[in-house]
Amino acid sequence: MRSDLLSRLASLGPAVVRWAEAREAEILRNGLALDAKMQAVARSVGVREPERVRIAVVARIPLPEDPELRQAAVSLGMLGPETIGLTLGHGIYVRKRPVSTRLLSHECRHVHQYEQAGSIAAFLGSYLQQIATVGYRDAPLEVDARAHEIERL
Ligand SMILES: [Zn+2]
Repeated sequence: MRSDLLSRLASLGPAVVRWAEAREAEILRNGLALDAKMQAVARSVGVREPERVRIAVVARIPLPEDPELRQAAVSLGMLGPETIGLTLGHGIYVRKRPVSTRLLSHECRHVHQYEQAGSIAAFLGSYLQQIATVGYRDAPLEVDARAHEIERL
């Protein structure tokens, strides 16, 4: 099962990266900048360039149009009806407003991880590999993001 997912991901990888890059570009064009307090939250979880971060509040997190890609994202537990946040580079989708400090800190920790990785492709390479092998919940990048959640500054 898991190795099957891995081989599917390997072949879907470039399409996932293209989708993520296009969504990030859209969020950076149309999203909201972080206010001073939100920037402080971002900085506190390690974001280097909080002024670049944008947030798009959406009714639902967009899924890839490609059916195979969409199904892979859903079956990996990455994107589903219960997903409330998704970070793509410096772009963050959230489904709720106002955005809680806990959700903001979690997603901003992913921004930090993207910054560390250096690109969307590099981050997703590790992230998808982790999810396909140990699952969404136990993926080290998710464990790290949960460990950096804060309730308030
Ligand atoms: Zn997360």
